[in-house]
Amino acid sequence: MPEHQPILHEYDAYISRHFAQEDAALTAAREDMAREGLPRINVSASEGKLLHLLALMSEAERILEIGTLGGYSTIWLARALPPHGKLITLELDAHHADVARKNIERAGLTAQVEVRVGPALETLSRMGASGEALFDMAFIDADKDGYVDYLHKVVPLVREGGLVLGDNTLSDEVLDEAATSGTKRYSSAVADHPDLVSTIVPVLRSQGIDGLLISIKRTGR
Ligand code: SAH
Ligand code: MG
Repeated sequence: MPEHQPILHEYDAYISRHFAQEDAALTAAREDMAREGLPRINVSASEGKLLHLLALMSEAERILEIGTLGGYSTIWLARALPPHGKLITLELDAHHADVARKNIERAGLTAQVEVRVGPALETLSRMGASGEALFDMAFIDADKDGYVDYLHKVVPLVREGGLVLGDNTLSDEVLDEAATSGTKRYSSAVADHPDLVSTIVPVLRSQGIDGLLISIKRTGR
């Protein structure tokens, strides 16, 4: 672990203490994920709050999430929806999806959240073909090698002025020029995309620094 990271953890704890306290449903979701053997790769509470704020700022009524895990980020996002809002979250692993559905139910969000099981690329292709209503926000957080393909499927599914968010885009690999990780390829594709205005916002987690790549869709600007 790089030397600065234990200190970054203290900064994260400060943000969480003041602005991102978990309630019982969020804590129970994390505990359930650990009990069910899911990897601990969910967003931090402080990043969950950032997602929640971005959803509120864009007045999101329809949110698309790619990579559900146990529904931890799903809960932070769905809580920003109005009562008639909808979040569709895509997950490959049926066990992860089961854990997520229970956590979403405990949080009282079953009416607003739909978990779709299967390879996200296939689900996204079906959504594109079936004339799915456009989303106000999309959060990409599944297998990193899929990010660039997800980007090309997701941008047409997001409304003009909507947000596309890419998680884990400021890992230590960004300092290694030779590395060609999925998230680095995603960041390059986003930077070159003619219809996206973007930057990476650093975020803190218990393991140290990472980032959320935030894009707004502005076609032909
Ligand atoms: N957004 C979650 C974390 C997601 S972890 C949170 O912060 O709480 C990444 C998830 O993507 C895992 O659950 C994994 O099973 C899922 N995943 C991996 N490959 C996938 C694919 N091809 N399609 C859909 N989901 C996939
Ligand atoms: Mg992530």
